[in-house]
Amino acid sequence: KELPSDPVLENSRRQVSESCFSFVTPKQTSKPELLHVSPEMLENLGLSETDAKSEEFLNLFTGNKVLTNTEPYAMCYGGHQFGNWAGQLGDGRAINLFEVEHYGKNWALQLKGAGETPYSRTADGLAVLRSSIREYLCSEAMFHLGVPTTRALSLALSGDEVLRDVMYDGNPAYEKGAIVCRTAESFLRFGNYQIFAARQDNKNLKRLVDYTIKYHFSNLGEPSIGTYVKFFKEVTKRTLDMIIHWQRVGFVHGVMNTDNMSVLGLTIDYGPYGWLEGYDYGWTPNTTDRQHKRYRYGNQPNIGLWNLLELANAIYPLIEDTEPLETILNQYKIDFDKGRLHMMRSKLGLQIEDDNDKSFILELEDILHLTEIDMTIFFRNLSDFNKEKTSHGLNIITESFYKPEEVSGNIEMRWFNWFEKYAERLKMENISDKVRKDRMNSVNPKYVLRNYMAQLAIDETDKGDYSLIDELFTMLKKPYDEQPEYEKWFAKRPDWARDKVGCSM
Ligand code: AMP
Ligand code: MG
Ligand code: MG
Repeated sequence: KELPSDPVLENSRRQVSESCFSFVTPKQTSKPELLHVSPEMLENLGLSETDAKSEEFLNLFTGNKVLTNTEPYAMCYGGHQFGNWAGQLGDGRAINLFEVEHYGKNWALQLKGAGETPYSRTADGLAVLRSSIREYLCSEAMFHLGVPTTRALSLALSGDEVLRDVMYDGNPAYEKGAIVCRTAESFLRFGNYQIFAARQDNKNLKRLVDYTIKYHFSNLGEPSIGTYVKFFKEVTKRTLDMIIHWQRVGFVHGVMNTDNMSVLGLTIDYGPYGWLEGYDYGWTPNTTDRQHKRYRYGNQPNIGLWNLLELANAIYPLIEDTEPLETILNQYKIDFDKGRLHMMRSKLGLQIEDDNDKSFILELEDILHLTEIDMTIFFRNLSDFNKEKTSHGLNIITESFYKPEEVSGNIEMRWFNWFEKYAERLKMENISDKVRKDRMNSVNPKYVLRNYMAQLAIDETDKGDYSLIDELFTMLKKPYDEQPEYEKWFAKRPDWARDKVGCSM
C-alpha cells in the first residue's frame, strides 16, 4: 500500500482515494500583516490580546510557522455544484492547522488562502483581500445575529500579490493576498461523505460517519444502523434550523452546493453571499446564477432539502433501508412550514397561534413584493406600530421604500387594509405595544452587513485604512441594539450600490 505523500515535497494536485485528508504545509508568506483579530474568538481559545500581538501569533495564523507536534492537513470531499455531481473537490485553499479544546468546546482552526493542496485543481490555493474581508466580517456578524456559523479568528494580509483576472487590455490584474483563520467545531461537509459513496468505498464511509458520531454527535449513542438514522435526523434538523435563521435575517448564501453544507448545520463558505435589501424571493447575489437563480432567497429551503437528499443517498449504504430516510425527508417540509410560520410570527410580534396567520403573513409578503421595500428597515420599523393608530402604519414604514412614489392607489389601499388587519390581530395578543416592540427588536436586526458596507470596507482597506473594518466589526456585535453612534448604517442601500454585489474568488 502506498505511503502518505510528503506534505513538503508533494502538494501535487491529484485524485486522493481511500483518505479523508492529506497532510500539507502552508505556503510561506512574504510580508504578513494582521489586519484584525476577533476578541471573542481569542477568548474562546483561551488566548489574550497580548498573545495576539506576538510574532508567533502572526506567523502561525498566516502559515509561516507550523506549531510543533501538529500536522496541518487538507480535507478530501466531493460535491454537487449547481445540481451536478462534480467529483472530487476538497480543501483547495483551506488548510487545517490544529484543534483547541477550551471551556469544554472543541475548535478546529483552519487557514483559508494559505496555498495549494492536492485539491487545488486548476486554482492557486490563495485568497484575495476582498473575499477575505467579506468572510471575516460576515461570519462573526452571523454569530452575533444568533445564526449557526463557522467563525473567524483573524484576518491578515500575506504581503503577496494574487492574480485574479486578466484585464481587457490583456494585462494581468493583481490583488492583495489575504488569509483568514476560521474556526468551527468541525468543517465536515455533506461532500465529505458523498465522495466515499461515489467511489463505493463503504469502508471509509463508515469510518468517517463513525468518527463524526463519536466526536460530534456522541449524544446519539454508539454507531449502529439506528444511530446512523438518528444522525441523519439530527443533521436534517440542524440544516432546517440554520436555513430558517437565514430567512429571518435575509441572508442569501449564494452557493449552496453540497460541499458547502456543514454536517453540523453551520453556515459555511462565505463567498458570493448577500443580504436582501428589497424583500424579494427571487433575489440572488451570485452573478453566475442569475439565469436559473437556483440559490435565490426563496429557494434556500428547497435546496436545503435537495442537499439533504444527497446526503441521505451518500450514507444509505450504511443503512440499506430507504424508509427511515424518506420519513425524515418528508418531515422536513412539514417542519419547515411550521418553523417558518413560527419565525414569521415572531418577526411580527405575534405569540398566539391563530388559524388565519398563514394567510395574513402571505398577504404581507405579497404586498412587500409589489414595490421594492427594504427588508431590514421594514421589520425593524414595524415594531413602532401602535395598534390604536392604524392610519399611521404607512408613515412608520415609508423609510423602507426604495420607490415611495409607487406606493399609491391600489398598493396604498392594500397597505391600509393590511394595517387594519394587523391592528385587529395584535388586539388578540395580551401584551403591551412596548413589550411587543422589545420582542420584535430581538429577532429583527437593526444592523446587517449590507453588500455596499462590505464594499466600502474593502475599498478603504485597500487604500491602507483599516478603521472601517473595526467599525463594522464592532457595530455588528450588537445587531439588535440601538446604537446611536452607528445610526448612519441603518439606512437603505445608496443608489450607487444598486446591483453591485460582492464576489467570491
Ligand atoms: P467554492 O465554490 O468556494 O465552494 O469552491 C469550490 C471548490 O473550489 C472547493 O474545493 C474549493 O476549495 C476550491 N477553490 C476555490 N477557490 C480556490 C482557489 N483559489 N484555489 C484552490 N482551490 C479553490
Ligand atoms: Mg466551498
Ligand atoms: Mg468558497
